[in-house]
This record gives sequence, structure tokens and C-alpha cells, in this order.
Amino acid sequence: MAEFIKRYGSEEACERALFASRWPQGWRCPKCDCEQSCTFYRDGRKYWKCYRCAHQTTLVSGTLFAATKLALSQWFLALYVLTQTKNSVSNLELMRHLGVCYRTAWRVKHKIMQAMADRESTRQLAGRVEVDDAYLGGEKPGGKAGRGSENKVPFVAAVQTTPEGHPQLMRLDPVSGFTKEAIGAWSKIALMESTLVVSDGLNCFPAVTESGATHQPHRVGSGRQSVEHAEFRWINILLGNLKTSISGTYHAFKFRKYAHRYLAEVQYRFNRRFRLKDMLARLLRAAVLARPRSESTLRLATVRTC
Ligand SMILES: [Zn+2]
Repeated sequence: MAEFIKRYGSEEACERALFASRWPQGWRCPKCDCEQSCTFYRDGRKYWKCYRCAHQTTLVSGTLFAATKLALSQWFLALYVLTQTKNSVSNLELMRHLGVCYRTAWRVKHKIMQAMADRESTRQLAGRVEVDDAYLGGEKPGGKAGRGSENKVPFVAAVQTTPEGHPQLMRLDPVSGFTKEAIGAWSKIALMESTLVVSDGLNCFPAVTESGATHQPHRVGSGRQSVEHAEFRWINILLGNLKTSISGTYHAFKFRKYAHRYLAEVQYRFNRRFRLKDMLARLLRAAVLARPRSESTLRLATVRTC
């Protein structure tokens, strides 16, 4: 926190950091890439006007922060809170941290989660990957109780490990169900061709070979359990952590509607857990690259599934 305040403790410091993240080589026109501009102020806000095409830009236009009424220092505090905590923070906690109303906190959180989801959407796992079927919602978020129960969102949990079995990267993707079609489609997005997929042998998982991956089923519960369970050590630990994190933070959220964002948030933080110091600057860059989204767009979102 002390370091955060030192670096981003004033509105001016946040403006400088955002400018540097957006235009590291100096201002450029987002329309025509021209480097020359004149600046003027309107309603207390600084504008850059392109010499060539007359396009007008503010520091936040065209980014995640577009049309915001919040101070940048509040946005930076939200980025800090959402990257530096081990578990997630609820809208209510964020509301208290930022000193804003619940609806504003909701918007801030969902915009940031969407930027995280955008960043993680193209990630592909490779090498040895443990996969498992899991559910969000119902009595046990992240748990496996009651496959097929109605109010739950099924998702594939996949973790890439080193050959020695240490976890490296993770993907968490809602799917329409645990069918061969859904898993086949998922595998083409989530896995590199060379991947070795280790699963518990659920009927749908052989479809991962559609991506070119090799499938190695380990049937748990058919004797030699202790040995076989070792294959799923990390996926089980991570699903346990996910359950604790989500049930400890959120009493209820609309799993079906927003599951992809909440899962992407967990995935984003996990995949950057060894670069905690850089995480805020990287998320700021993601926010600069994310396109602006209105609250109505965010509320319309449905679970992106394979
Ligand atoms: Zn221009």
C-alpha cells in the first residue's frame, strides 16, 4: 500500500501513469497515427486535437475508463485492490474502498473483470495439462457435487504443470455442458496441439484430441485410487482454492450471466501470481487496450461458452 501511494497517490501521478501506458512514445492520434497535436481544455478536461485529421482525444477516450465520472485515482485504487488481494473482493468491499455507491462499484468491477477476460481469452495451454469438470453455483461453488444440477454453470478447469508437476498456468471456461461437442470446441481454443491432457476419464474428455492434443484418461475410483489421484493433485487444490475464494467473497451472484467474468478474474490473477509487483501496470495496459463498454453492454453479457 505504501508503495502504491508513493507511485499513484495523486490524480496527477495517475494521469502521468495512464499517459505513459497509453502513449509510451508520446501522444499519437488514435485515428490516423499522426504525432502532432494541439491541446486545449474543455470543462476542466484536457483534449488533444490531431493536426492532420482534427480528431479530438482525451486521456481516457477509447479506453476502459472512457466516459467515467470517477477520478483516475479511484480507478487506480480499484486496479490495486483487484490485483493485490489473494482472494477476490466483492462489490460491497470495493464500494467501501472507493467511497462510491454500489452501482458504481459494480460497474468498475465488471469493467475491470472484462478487461481481464479480454486479456486471458487468447491464452493457450501446452505441455502437461490436468483437466476436470466443475460447477459454479448451487451449494458448493467450485465443487463437483451434483453433476447436471440445473442452477449451476458447468465449467472446464484446466491447469498446465511442469513435467515435475508444478502448476504454471490455468484456464477456467464455462461450457454449455460436458458433451463431446463442447469439449472438442473448447480444446481448439484452449490447448496447443502438442498438449498432453490428463483427465479422470469422463466421457466427454476424449474429444480434446480434436485440437491435436493427446488424451490420457485416469479413471479414479476404480482401485489404485491413491496413485491415480496424484495425477489430479493440482487441479483439485486449485478448485478447492477457487471454492474458498468465491464462496468467501460472494454470497451470490448471477452465475449464469456473469460466470465467465468471475472465472476470468481468478484465472488472470493466478496466471500472474509470480509477478505481483508488475500486475497493476499490466492491468493498466489491459485497461488502455480494452474497448469502452457501457453498463448496459456489461449487463447484457451472457456466459461465453463453447
Ligand atoms: Zn489524426
